[in-house]
Amino acid sequence: LFSAVTMAPRDPILGLNEQFAADPNPHKVNLGVGVYFDDNGKLPLLQCVQSAEKALMEQPTPRGYLPIDGIPAYNAGVKNLVFGAGSEPLQSGRVATVQALGGTGGLKIGADFLKKLNPGAKVLISDPSWENHRALFTQAGFEVGTYRYYDATTRSLNFEGMLADLKAAAPGTIVVLHACCHNPTGYDLDAAQWSQVVATVQARGLVPFLDMAYQGFAQGIAEDGAVVGKFVAAGLQCFVATSFSKSFSLYGERVGALSVVCADPDEAARVLSQLKIVIRTNYSNPPTHGGAVVAKVLGDASLRAQWEQELGAMRSRIKLMRQKLVEGLRAAGVPQDMDFITRQVGMFSYSGLSTEQMQRLRSEFGVYGTDTGRMCVAALNSKNVDYVCQAIAKVV
Ligand code: PMP
Repeated sequence: LFSAVTMAPRDPILGLNEQFAADPNPHKVNLGVGVYFDDNGKLPLLQCVQSAEKALMEQPTPRGYLPIDGIPAYNAGVKNLVFGAGSEPLQSGRVATVQALGGTGGLKIGADFLKKLNPGAKVLISDPSWENHRALFTQAGFEVGTYRYYDATTRSLNFEGMLADLKAAAPGTIVVLHACCHNPTGYDLDAAQWSQVVATVQARGLVPFLDMAYQGFAQGIAEDGAVVGKFVAAGLQCFVATSFSKSFSLYGERVGALSVVCADPDEAARVLSQLKIVIRTNYSNPPTHGGAVVAKVLGDASLRAQWEQELGAMRSRIKLMRQKLVEGLRAAGVPQDMDFITRQVGMFSYSGLSTEQMQRLRSEFGVYGTDTGRMCVAALNSKNVDYVCQAIAKVV
């Protein structure tokens, strides 16, 4: 039965992790995987999460099946975060939201639903993008192309190229957009550029699919959510995949969501019914714990305030590490202007280093980033940043 099965390639990032684990270098630093670590290099367990778990444990509940679309209070919390409490699409009841297995799950539910709805559509992702975007939409049956996004020669956004590619896309093309904290480059569009993208998407009749994996990591919850508001204000129907993996540091709980903005409540009810079929035939219904924790935090004013404060602290620490990196590189004698690192946002930085330089960082210094030059700045801390700067200085 399995004799013809070929060995699939290893996941590049997870392969890097294995290499890191096996590296005996005592100074090694893992900047490969997209995970936030605190200044002690530890994965945080947020106070708001601990308080919510404590409260939940004080009143233990049996673990029956959840509804197919998840915990109602969770979905309500997601809607408020993504669209703003009291916003027009929520008041009019035209958003269908389902709990999903992380942001990946939200993307996958949306992709499967879109494939049934419009099987001939093409998908465009940014060049470059999070590796799983291409794989996930390809696996759902779509032909996946790219729109220009990053210009390696200028180390900045290629906005003209992006807009030209969107303008050239056929009506009905699904366009996957990073709502904030672009992975892997760290370069986001500004408000005026988003307005142009919204206008182009509208004029060309494209289908916007916003991937919101880092809400709160760029400027703040509401500020980052404003991008979604622009699509809504233009009267567009759109998809939004949410992830709480990073913002709640709940990676392994698989907490995310998919929201679909529809024209009216009747359409939202029909769309929801179809999303439920996708879920029912994939994994039936979501798990209870992570969703219950997030629902508790989002639904309780003081826990919610605590979360915003903890999320703000993560955001500030990343910004500080970006600054330290730039200063440290200058102090270590790197002649190039590295200020672009502080213009990037979110957990990642496209360092502009070549594949060969990244490989030397790994083999000679135990500093692990991807061959593309991506480094997770959220894994830098006050103890390892100088070492990383010295190592980079030696390879550039
Ligand atoms: N989209 C992007 C852009 C991401 O970076 C990630 C996580 N690396 C995800 C989606 C998936 O998030 P989750 O782990 O919640 O599935």
